[in-house]
Amino acid sequence: MSNSIRVEKVKKSRLPEVDLENIEFGRIFSDHMLEAEYRGGKWQPARIVPFGNFSLSPATTALHYGQEIFEGLKAYKNKDGKPVLFRPKDNWQRMNRSAKRMCMPGIPEEIFMDGLKKLLSLDQDWIPTTEGSSLYIRPFMIATDEYVGIKPADNYKFMTFTCPVGPYYPEPIKVYIEEKYSRAAPGGVGSAKAAGNYAASLYPARLAQEKGYRQLVWTDAKEHRYIEESGTMNIFFVINGKVVTPELEGTILKGITRDSVLTLLKDEGYPVEERKITVSEICQAYEDGTLEDVFGTGTAATLAHIKAIGYRDRDMELPPVSERKISSKVLKRLYDIKLGSELNKFNWIIHV
Ligand SMILES: *Cc1c(COP(=O)(O)O)cnc(C)c1O
Repeated sequence: MSNSIRVEKVKKSRLPEVDLENIEFGRIFSDHMLEAEYRGGKWQPARIVPFGNFSLSPATTALHYGQEIFEGLKAYKNKDGKPVLFRPKDNWQRMNRSAKRMCMPGIPEEIFMDGLKKLLSLDQDWIPTTEGSSLYIRPFMIATDEYVGIKPADNYKFMTFTCPVGPYYPEPIKVYIEEKYSRAAPGGVGSAKAAGNYAASLYPARLAQEKGYRQLVWTDAKEHRYIEESGTMNIFFVINGKVVTPELEGTILKGITRDSVLTLLKDEGYPVEERKITVSEICQAYEDGTLEDVFGTGTAATLAHIKAIGYRDRDMELPPVSERKISSKVLKRLYDIKLGSELNKFNWIIHV
């Protein structure tokens, strides 16, 4: 099917102007992008064109009512220098679940997956190879009706572009437990990767950043008693040798990195629990000296160690990363799988 994707190549690559060893996250874009339109009740053939601006009517519905979803995944060069994708089908499936919740059409596999592989084979030289670097991939879909009224649109645009990136959090981060604002409420769109979720999180996150924290830890919208997730990451705690992470209940984004980490933890034989976790349980574990590790998981950061958790007016400091054996082991295995030095036994690696 990918033969049906028309390609218009750039006249001259911008790659020679880019220093792949020194890149700011998300500001450098590779040469090409994939695009497809949904019109008249069906997807039109996808195209690959030079990365660039496109024009929209000021009345485009996505700009007014937020009918917009996105994904994030990464490509790596493995130890043989071949481009590989990490679990891209899971992103495709999640995007279609988000689409359903937002009344948007599902994207056919030929457009999402074959388009992605073709885009990657064209721009594979943009994949950085320094440790901790990768090619970040951003598929997204917007409603494109020209209409100032509220209803699910009839027209959509799906696109995928890529950016070479370095590490998202080069150092362990400080997070703050939020007890006033909420990211997602029961019955809302917290489990969809919808653009509006992020818009709603910016203000409370900024208040925490002004106090010196990098990210928030969201708690449940009803009682602010249970831990949900942190910024763009799912969250894990190691308490007395046992790994716990909040269970998925519709307000938490079902992270693919979360699932990969759970799979690897179980594979290593560590005790793992997916369940409700109260803020007071975390404070108690800290008091008892049994809070051994806290880390976030997400595509952008992979696995980010948390240095301290702010709660009300104090900070719970966590042990140095060198003592965090479980998460460090899992992080290493994730890299080994991505780079091909560990076998692809979970079928997570797709060759381009
Ligand atoms: C994307 C995202 C994550 C992480 O999901 P991955 O599939 O691991 O990248 C976690 N939380 C939120 C709110 C997200 O948008």
